[in-house]
Amino acid sequence: MRSISVLGATGSVGESAFDLVMRAGGPERFRTIALTGGANVARLAQMARALRAEIAVTAWPQCLAELRAALAGSGIEAAAGPRAVAEAAARPADWTLSAIVGAAGLPPGLEVLNRGGTLALANKETLVAAGPLVMSRARETGARILPVDSEHSAIFQALQGEDLESVEHVTITASGGAFRDWPLERLAQASVAEASRHPNWDMGQRITIDSASMFNKALEVIEAHEFFGLGVERLRVLVHPQSIIHAMVTHRDGGSIAHLGAPDMRHAIGYALNWPARAPLPVPALDLAALGSLTFAQPDEARWPALRLAREAIEAGGAAGAVLNAAKEQALDDFIAGRIRFTDMAPAVEHALALAAREAGFGQSPRDLAEVLHWDGFARRAAAQWQGAA
Ligand code: NDP
Ligand code: MG
Repeated sequence: MRSISVLGATGSVGESAFDLVMRAGGPERFRTIALTGGANVARLAQMARALRAEIAVTAWPQCLAELRAALAGSGIEAAAGPRAVAEAAARPADWTLSAIVGAAGLPPGLEVLNRGGTLALANKETLVAAGPLVMSRARETGARILPVDSEHSAIFQALQGEDLESVEHVTITASGGAFRDWPLERLAQASVAEASRHPNWDMGQRITIDSASMFNKALEVIEAHEFFGLGVERLRVLVHPQSIIHAMVTHRDGGSIAHLGAPDMRHAIGYALNWPARAPLPVPALDLAALGSLTFAQPDEARWPALRLAREAIEAGGAAGAVLNAAKEQALDDFIAGRIRFTDMAPAVEHALALAAREAGFGQSPRDLAEVLHWDGFARRAAAQWQGAA
């Protein structure tokens, strides 16, 4: 029986994975090693019971008592704290999904790679913050990374049987998020509630706001650069409001292979779960006649400066990914808390990148987790400091 672990099981991607695993037979079909979550311990315990997991871990030490109580009598181990999450990830499993949100996903993701496991990666921050480290660790240990971010799953699928050398460029599509059609001058007044409504995808709040600012696409461009080894000149972003084409690979002979599908994460998660096979999934096939038309537009970088920052971060290399990611997380925290405006997030990230670029060692890619965390802390302080300057 195949063994699996899900990190971030209680989130939006985690729930979709749980749904797929239960539909595929649950504990009759999979041996669940570890499930991890955060504050939602009631749901974590419910999932752990349903899948008869070996261990359930909450990232928050203060939630341990509640988790223990919720698991009483089940025989399922309980643990808490970031270290326990990483230890759970280190337990051997055939397939581990990382669906934690933010840079917190990096340490447990590295544990999966250290043991040479298969890491189904929704947590794009792992590659953005530490791409060279993550990819070289995977090569050293023979670990496999399967992309779960829908665009990267789409590129991965479109590249099956193809030679990366023949790729002229790759196009990642973006819906444009909540503010695609807003007048530019209104953006500064955008509220957290308005930024948290996505036109097509049902996702966690943080990635939904990142879709409105295009920081999600900025992270995805860096993620594609790190994972597929494509230079910035071979990576394009295209606004596609319907979110039906997820990505497209254009070859130097002029042919393009696009990946299409309903905007439902269960496709990309299920593809990674069944890879290299394809199994039936509860995702409806497309009805293009009913859709009628698909539309496209060039992204406007005045509306979405995050796209320029991603390009500049790739060109800068070194610690720029770790800095951009952490500064963005800080700026997003500050926006959600009402400390800065929606349009302040990109300048705060740009400020952090500019300060970091003056530091010794910025040009060198972080070689271990401690170096990533150094730049992560630097970037959060720099981005937080920007509010003072505003
Ligand atoms: P959610 O916020 O819905 O879920 C995040 C999960 O991580 C929850 O289980 C949460 O626990 C847990 N968590 C939160 N903070 C921490 C922490 N500090 N340490 C450990 N665990 C933590 O996020 P999404 O599911 O939307 O996104 C997960 C990842 O997948 C992100 O990297 C996102 O960019 C990526 N992604 C998401 C997509 C989507 O459709 N949602 C699409 C493509 C990529 P709890 O809820 O119990 O507090
Ligand atoms: Mg995506």
